[in-house]
Amino acid sequence: MSILANKTDLVRAGSGTWQDQMKWAIRDLRGLRDTLGLANEGELQLAAEAEFPVFAPLPYLARIKSSDLGDPLLRQVWPSESEMESPGHFSKDPLGELDATLSSGMLQKYQGRVLLVATGACAVHCRYCFRRHFPYEQSPKSMAQWEPTLAKIAADDSVDEVILSGGDPLTLVDRSLKSLVSKIDEIVHVKRIRFHTRLPIMIPQRVTDTLLGVLANARSQMIVVIHSNHANELDWSVEQSLSRIANSGAMLLNQAVLLRGVNNSLTALKDLSERLLSCRVMPYYLHQLDPVNGAAHFEVDVQQGLQLIAELRSCLPGYAVPRYVQELRGEPNKTVLA
Ligand code: SF4
Repeated sequence: MSILANKTDLVRAGSGTWQDQMKWAIRDLRGLRDTLGLANEGELQLAAEAEFPVFAPLPYLARIKSSDLGDPLLRQVWPSESEMESPGHFSKDPLGELDATLSSGMLQKYQGRVLLVATGACAVHCRYCFRRHFPYEQSPKSMAQWEPTLAKIAADDSVDEVILSGGDPLTLVDRSLKSLVSKIDEIVHVKRIRFHTRLPIMIPQRVTDTLLGVLANARSQMIVVIHSNHANELDWSVEQSLSRIANSGAMLLNQAVLLRGVNNSLTALKDLSERLLSCRVMPYYLHQLDPVNGAAHFEVDVQQGLQLIAELRSCLPGYAVPRYVQELRGEPNKTVLA
């Protein structure tokens, strides 16, 4: 049974277009509390919300199973008093992305790949987000503003993969997304276009026929990397949307973040891998948390992460065990921990 108490919210969670869902999303702590029947917020929680506002769509909230703050889905969107504490190794820009900016809206951290910050908007505000302090206002907002960046990619034939990230690139309306993708697809040395997105999970209605057409008709290989941290996020409607993406011919991968109180147990990680496979998604990465200010309460010790991966190996086939990785500022590639 859904935790959503209000009938209107329940009906809305399963209806409307994806843009309706963006409009109906809960955008503040009070709204989240009322929607889920939770206790009053304290002063520190309000301060955490002021640092990084709440944004949580109804289809995701409807999958929360308990009003206990330990629910793994609730924990990812609920501003915690602990966000106001940041140990010394945590910072606003933990991966040094501001130093990796090559051109307006474009980062290059690794050889052969560039990342476009396609938008600052997301369909959820994950409390552990490593870009929660990112200066999105400096990224291009229109095709005209993207032109100089696209020209740079076209002039550099060492770039064979373009990653559309953000924010979440699927918050762009289909028309804008289609123009951006087709401009990238016209660059002959680009072999792959990769999307980093949580939208098919947060709002499964986002997988529209137009989006599927963009994925199916491009010359470049299309790769969709979703971001799911817990099996409870992947209900039947998400499975249907992921299956449609798989049918478009795009490769589907998942990246998760190892989060204390969300998935730092053998059962949670095993269930996640198995559920991903049943949704036709390969478990790809399990990330060590990026030490961003406000997220320290999610950090899991690397030793525990290594132990969990060893246990996963003993009970799942190799292809179902994600690579446990850590991104370190300035390194030429991700560090594989296990
Ligand atoms: S969807 Fe991705 S970019 Fe957006 S808040 Fe969550 S982790 Fe950050």
